Amino acid sequence: MRYRWCGAKTVLGRVEEFSEGPGSSTYTNERGSRRVTAARVSDNLRLVVATLSPGFSAQSLQMNDSRNHLEVFFVPLAMCLMAALFDPGLAHGQSRASKPVRGGTAGSRVRPTSSVREKPAEASRESSLTSDLRLAAPRNASLRRELGWTFGGKQQRGWHLYEPLISGLLQTEHDAASEAFAAALTSWQKRSGLRPSGVLDEESLNAMVSEWQGKRLKAQGYPVPEDLVTAPASDFYDQTRAGDLRQVERKTYAAYQLLVATAVADRSLGLARKAKGELAPTEKYLKIISAFRSREYQEKLRRESPNAGRAGLAISSPHFTGRALDLYVGGEPVETKDSNRALQVQTRVYQWLVRNADRFGFRPYYYEPWHWEYVNK
Ligand SMILES: [Zn+2]
Repeated sequence: MRYRWCGAKTVLGRVEEFSEGPGSSTYTNERGSRRVTAARVSDNLRLVVATLSPGFSAQSLQMNDSRNHLEVFFVPLAMCLMAALFDPGLAHGQSRASKPVRGGTAGSRVRPTSSVREKPAEASRESSLTSDLRLAAPRNASLRRELGWTFGGKQQRGWHLYEPLISGLLQTEHDAASEAFAAALTSWQKRSGLRPSGVLDEESLNAMVSEWQGKRLKAQGYPVPEDLVTAPASDFYDQTRAGDLRQVERKTYAAYQLLVATAVADRSLGLARKAKGELAPTEKYLKIISAFRSREYQEKLRRESPNAGRAGLAISSPHFTGRALDLYVGGEPVETKDSNRALQVQTRVYQWLVRNADRFGFRPYYYEPWHWEYVNK
């Protein structure tokens, strides 16, 4: 026989809660269903009744012929008394309503079994991360064009021009406005010791810029003349360029030739090619715009373009080393206007360079899609 009726179930539930501790073996709990065997209940309640009721005793109960009837009457009564006595709220003179509700059981001190199976902390963290990503995605959709920041003393807006580089850094192909992108960004932020918000804000963008800048060419020295080779005019965007302006550091030129041969072989780029698989003279993409520049030549360029700015024609340029190449990637060859760079970063050739140039030893200058530096020794 089991007590299944409502009142007893409630009362038994409370007793059961109380019994979760030392000596709790008095009641059987079958997977939290709160079913208690009648025999055990009656044994124990007899003691309770005997203790609480002066007119009764365990002995007198045993002597009674109508024992079962009495049990039916006293069991709920005694259990109600027990519940009242052991209720922590009532015991301390507090109203039940003043107790906070936990796990759906008002005033309970121990969580009911059903409540123990609630969402574990890990699942809760997971759900909070998911909601963070949901919030981060629309923030990124807005910041990609709106984030205000500065570089080279110049006010910048958004980071959409750097999305191919950002995707490479985060190792994701997902759109910058997606939750998957925010998730990849979160992982990168964790690895970089940043707050893992999934939002590409100024702090994260500056950290990315530092990472890209940190991978650039360290060498600044002039090459010795023996280390310079003069590349053929056909390698250049301007094929009328004079010989002294077609010089390239020897290893850099070898790496460039390998890079170009690989790009030409990649038919998805659709580069015009000669019979032997070389870049056709008519093809503009990947042609060299500028390579080695002497200090004198750099100074001449600065005089001719006084408004080029610090990011444009630097006083100390990596082109002095012969290891920096400006390559044609579309649009106006070396124009830093956002509209021009927006066009360049969308070309297949630029995006191919972002994915592949590192294999040949070339690293980008993130701000100028055309400028690549050979960093291998
Ligand atoms: Zn350059």
